[in-house]
Amino acid sequence: MSVRVVESVAVMEAARREMRGLVGLVPTMGYLHEGHLSLVRRARAECEVMVVSIFVNPTQFGPGEDLERYPRDTERDLRVLEQAGADVVFMPSVEEMYPPGFEEWVEVAGLLTERLEGATRPGHFRGVTTVVARLFRIVRPDRAYFGQKDAQQLRVVRQLVQQEGLPVVVVPMPIVREPDGLAMSSRNVYLSAEERTAALALSRALREARRTVMEGGVTDADTLRAAVRATVAGQPLVQLEYVSVADEATLSELERIERPAMVLVAAKVGSTRLIDNVVVVPKGMAVPEGLRELV
Ligand code: AMP
Repeated sequence: MSVRVVESVAVMEAARREMRGLVGLVPTMGYLHEGHLSLVRRARAECEVMVVSIFVNPTQFGPGEDLERYPRDTERDLRVLEQAGADVVFMPSVEEMYPPGFEEWVEVAGLLTERLEGATRPGHFRGVTTVVARLFRIVRPDRAYFGQKDAQQLRVVRQLVQQEGLPVVVVPMPIVREPDGLAMSSRNVYLSAEERTAALALSRALREARRTVMEGGVTDADTLRAAVRATVAGQPLVQLEYVSVADEATLSELERIERPAMVLVAAKVGSTRLIDNVVVVPKGMAVPEGLRELV
C-alpha cells in the first residue's frame, strides 16, 4: 500500500475519523535520518495506523536562527516513509497550521521551559508546545514518539500532555548516533568536514561523563561539568553554550548525582548549533524501568 500524503488540516481530521485501532504519531521537521526512522519503526511495530508529520514549525525558531535555511528534501522523505510503512504523512503548510488570526498559543510554564534551551532560545518551547498541542488535536494519536536527542523537549511534551489532559501516551526513544558517536541531527548537514570532526568532542565528553558516574562512582556535579568543559576546550571550533547536570525528570540543576540525572550540552560548532545528552544513574543504583532504554 502506498503512503497517503495529506496537506490540509480538514482532510487530516476527516482521515482520522476513518482510522481504526491504535494510531501512532511521529512529529518531525523532515530531512529524515536514522534517528527519526527509529521512532517511525517503533510506531509501526506498536500501532495499527502510523502517521508521520513533517512541518518546519516557524514559531519555534528565534530571530537569527536557521528557519530559512533549515534543510528540506520532501521527495526523499516520502520515499523513505513509504518504505518504512507509514500510512499517512501529514505535511501542512504554515497557513494551514497558523491560519490568519491564530491565537491558540499553548504554554508550559516554569523551570522546565525556562532553563537550558528555554534560556538560550526564548520563545522556543512556546512554539513547540503550541504546534505539538495542535498536531495532537488534529491527529488525535493514541501514542506519540519523541527522541531523547531533544531531552528537554520530550519532558516539556510530557508536561504539556499532563497539563492539557490530552489522551496520548508519550513514548521516549533513545538517541541514535553515527558510528563515531555524533548524535544524528538534520543540522549535521551544515557541518564542514573539519567541524564535524571537532563536534565529536561533545559525544566523547558525554560518554566519558557517563563512565565517570556509572563506573567511577563520581557524584559531584561540578567535577563532571569541569571534565566536560576540559574535553571540549581542546577543540577551538566548538564553543560550549551550557553544560548541565540535571535531574532526569525535572531538569533542575544538581549538586550531587544521587538519583537518575542527565548531562546535557549545547554548543556552537562554527555557525551550527548542536545539542546532545546522556542519562546517568549513580554507581550501584539499578536503572529504573522507564529509563532502561535511554541509558
Ligand atoms: P526533528 O525533525 O529534529 O524535530 O526531530 C523529530 C523527532 O525525532 C524528535 O522527537 C527528535 O527528538 C527525534 N530525533 C531527532 N534526532 C534523533 C536522534 N539522533 N535519535 C533519536 N531521536 C531523534
